Amino acid sequence: MSIQDTLEAFQQRLVERGLKSTRQRGLIVETFFELDRHVNVDELLLEVRKRRASTGYATVYRTLKLLVDLGFANERRFGGPETPTIYDPSFERDEHFHLICLECQHIIEFRDVPLEKRHEAIAREQGFTLQQQTLDLYGHCTRENCPRRPQA
Ligand SMILES: [Zn+2]
Ligand SMILES: [Zn+2]
Repeated sequence: MSIQDTLEAFQQRLVERGLKSTRQRGLIVETFFELDRHVNVDELLLEVRKRRASTGYATVYRTLKLLVDLGFANERRFGGPETPTIYDPSFERDEHFHLICLECQHIIEFRDVPLEKRHEAIAREQGFTLQQQTLDLYGHCTRENCPRRPQA
């Protein structure tokens, strides 16, 4: 699905809800779909401000909430209450899982089709209709700027 299609689907959903589409909201939504990865409010704000410097935090926050509300994003919080909520694009997107660093909150997304199939089989065995899959694996990453990384 192209960004244009996703945007159109979003506009349509807005109209169905009797909500107006503003240019500013459109820009935020477009940026979110273009990034195509999970972001927290600050990360998205930073990207949107590259295009429209006067964008406010509250507007981005409200737009992300709206995206969740309309089924275009999943709201997730990994780790403790001090980690920021992230927003994952979800519309027409493949199932994916997460590796989360407990130290620097770095998140890696991965796909694993055999694992998805296994989850489906488990659900089927239990007479369960699967709607959504999530898998969050916690540990420590090896990124250069992760405080946990052993010093050379
Ligand atoms: Zn994700
Ligand atoms: Zn890390």
